[in-house]
Amino acid sequence: MRPFAYTSAAGIAEAVRLAAAGPVTFLAGGTNLVDLMRAGVERPEHVVDISRLPLDGIEDLPGGGLRIGALARNARVAGDARVRARFPLLAQAIMNGASPQLRNRATAGGNLLQRTRCGYFYDRAAACNKRVPGAGCDALDGYNRMHAILGAGDNCIAVHPSDMCVALAALDATVNVAGRDAAVPLAGFHRLPGDSPHVETVLEPGELITSIDLPEMPGRSVYLKVRDRATYAFALVSAAVLVRVEEGRVAAARIALGGVAHKPWRAYAAERLLTGEPVRDDLLRQAAEAAVAGARPREHNAFKPELATRLVRRALKVTTS
Ligand code: SF4
Repeated sequence: MRPFAYTSAAGIAEAVRLAAAGPVTFLAGGTNLVDLMRAGVERPEHVVDISRLPLDGIEDLPGGGLRIGALARNARVAGDARVRARFPLLAQAIMNGASPQLRNRATAGGNLLQRTRCGYFYDRAAACNKRVPGAGCDALDGYNRMHAILGAGDNCIAVHPSDMCVALAALDATVNVAGRDAAVPLAGFHRLPGDSPHVETVLEPGELITSIDLPEMPGRSVYLKVRDRATYAFALVSAAVLVRVEEGRVAAARIALGGVAHKPWRAYAAERLLTGEPVRDDLLRQAAEAAVAGARPREHNAFKPELATRLVRRALKVTTS
C-alpha cells in the first residue's frame, strides 16, 4: 500500500472545495476503490472520505418519482418499500448484483462509478489502455469471454460491471451532481471507450454525485441476468426491460443491456420498433434482434449476440403477457 493523504469531509461544501483544490479520490463504501488500491491499479494521492455526508436519503419527488441519495446503501435501496412498489426493476437488478455483504456496504453513487472487472485491467503485468493510456489492450487477442460486443473499438473492449446501472438506464434515471444546474441522464453518464477508455464518465475531475432521480415509469418490468454461477457473479449478459401495453399495443418500451458494452446499453432501435405496434410474437423477435444489431463479438464471446437476443425476447414476453 502506498502512502496517501486522508481527509474526512465535514460537509458537501468541504468535499467540493477539497476536490477543486487538487486531485482527490472520493471514498464512499470503498467496495471497489479499496480493491483497486490493494492491486496498485488506483494510486490516489489524497482520499477524501465522504461516507459521513448527509447524502443517504430516499425521498419522494413530485409526480411519483424518487430521489435516491448518492450514499444510500444498495441493500437499503433494494429493500425500500417505495422502490419495491414503484421501481421493482431497480430492486431486482440490485439484488442480482454482488453479495449481501457488498450490498450492505456499497452506495448508489459508488455503483455508478465502479470500474470494469476486466482481468487485464487488474493485472499490472498486462497491457491495458484503461490503466495506462497508450499501453495497448491485451484483451483483444486474449481471453475475452466477458468482454464487449457493442460500442467498442480496438482501444478497449471492457464492459461496465453494474447491474443497478442497467436498470437505471431503462428507467430514464438522471444523476445530480454538486454545482451542476442540469442533471445528467444516466444513459449519457457513462462513455464509450473511443480513444480514451480511461475516461469512463462525463464527470469532470473532482465532481461529486449527490443523488439519482427516478421519474415515474408505469409499466411491467423485469431484470434478467445470465451468469456463470447463480450468485455473486458478473453478467455475461443482462437485460432490463420495461413495457407499458395499452389496448394490446405497446405504448412505451425501455430496453437496456448489461455485460455487452463499456456502458449500460440502451437499445433505442428496438424500442422504436416496438412502440405503437400491436403485441405479437414476431414483433418481439424482431425487436430482440434489433437490440444487438451491429454486435461485433471477439474470439471467446461469439455466443453473446445470440444470448442477448434470447434474453431480450424472453424479457419482452414476460413484460407484454
Ligand atoms: Fe484494459 Fe480495456 Fe483492454 Fe481490459 S479491455 S485490457 S480494461 S484496455
